[in-house]
Amino acid sequence: MKRIVYLDNAATTPVDPAVIEEMRPYFSEQFANPMTYAHSSLGDTAHTAVEEARNRVASLINASPEQVIFTGGGTESDNWILKGVLERASRERLHKPGHLVTAEFEHHAILHSALALERQGYEVTFVKVGRSGIVDPDDVRRAMRPTTVLVSIMHANNEIGTIQPIAQIARIAHEHGALMHADAVQTTAHIPVDVEALGVDFLSISAHKFNGPKGVGAAFVRDHDSLYPFVDGGGQEWGLRGSTHNVPGIVGMGKAAQLGRERLTPEMKRLTALRSVLFEKLASRIDRLTINGDVRQRLPQNLNVRIDGIDNEALLLAMNEAGIIAAGGSACTAQETVPSHVLTSIGCDVKEAKASIRLSLGLVTTNEDIDYATDVIPGLVRFLRSMA
Ligand code: PLP
Repeated sequence: MKRIVYLDNAATTPVDPAVIEEMRPYFSEQFANPMTYAHSSLGDTAHTAVEEARNRVASLINASPEQVIFTGGGTESDNWILKGVLERASRERLHKPGHLVTAEFEHHAILHSALALERQGYEVTFVKVGRSGIVDPDDVRRAMRPTTVLVSIMHANNEIGTIQPIAQIARIAHEHGALMHADAVQTTAHIPVDVEALGVDFLSISAHKFNGPKGVGAAFVRDHDSLYPFVDGGGQEWGLRGSTHNVPGIVGMGKAAQLGRERLTPEMKRLTALRSVLFEKLASRIDRLTINGDVRQRLPQNLNVRIDGIDNEALLLAMNEAGIIAAGGSACTAQETVPSHVLTSIGCDVKEAKASIRLSLGLVTTNEDIDYATDVIPGLVRFLRSMA
C-alpha cells in the first residue's frame, strides 16, 4: 500500500479510535432523544451522556458547563456569535446598527459573516495585520467606536499558526464597553485555552480539529442573554440552539476533549520538537525557504513556508503523488486557485502567496513521517525549479 504522510491536520484530523468506541452505542442501542429524559430511562441515559460531554468540554477550556452550547461546528459557532451578538445589542441597547471589529486574516466563517452583517447595515472594521501575522492590540484600540458591540479576533490563525494576544485585546474591548470573541478552532486541545485567562465572552470550537467527529462543535457563551438564538426551535441548549442533539457527535466531542486535555502538555512538547526537525531539515536542504509569520508566537503543529521559485499547486500535486498530503491555503479554499487571503493580508504578494505551503502536524504524525517528508520534498523542489 502507498505510504501516506498526512501533514494537513489543520484542515481536519482522523477520529481517535477511543472516540469512535465512545460514540458507538449512541447510534444504536442508546439512540434516545435526550430531551425525553424526564419520562424515559433511555432518554435519561442519552441526556446524561450529553451532560458528561458538556462537562468534559467545559473542563478543557475552564468554563462552567452551562456556558458550553453544542453547535454544528466552528463555522456555525462563528456565524451565531457574530450575528446573534450584533443583532441583540443593536436592537435592545443601541437602537441602531452596531459596529464589529475583526481582522483581515480571519477564517472565512468570520469574514463572510462580517460581510453579511455589513450588507444588513451593520458597520465592520477589518483590522490590518503585518508580516508577523499578529494583530497589534493598538490597531484594535484605534478601531473602537462608541457603537462597537463586539471584537472578534482568532486565537491562532489557521494557515500561518500565529497566536494572537487575545487577553490584551479582550481588555481593550472591555474598556470600550464591547464584548470579546475568539475563534479558537485551531487552538483548542492544542495549546492551553482558558476562557478566564483569555478574558473572552465567547469562543468557537470544532471537534474535528482535535481528533473528534466532523459536524459538531461548541460555542462558549459567558452570558446567555448577550445574544439571540441562532436556530429557533425546541428548548434545546437553553433555547439558544434548537434541533435534536447530535448525541453521538457530542459524545465524541466530549471524549476528544477529555483526551486532548490529558495529552496537551506532552503533545505540545512532541510536536514542537518534530516541527523544529521538519523546519531545520527542509531549510538545510532547500535554499530560499522562509517561514511565513512570526517564528516563535505560533502553534507547535504549524509550519507555513514560502519556497521561492515554485508554484505551490505544482508542488502539492507532486507531494501528493509521493504520498505527502499538505495544503496551500485553508481547506475551504483549497479548490480555488486564488492566492491565500491570509498570506496576502500579511503583505505577501501574489507570487509569494502562491509559493507557500502549510505543513500541519498532529497526533498521527511520527518521526518517520518527518524523515520521509524531509527526504522527499527537497528533490521535488529541485525538479520543479529546474522546470521553471
Ligand atoms: N475557524 C477556523 C480558524 C478554522 O480553521 C475552521 C476550519 O478550518 C473553522 C473556523 C470552521 O470550522 P468547521 O470546519 O468546524 O466548520
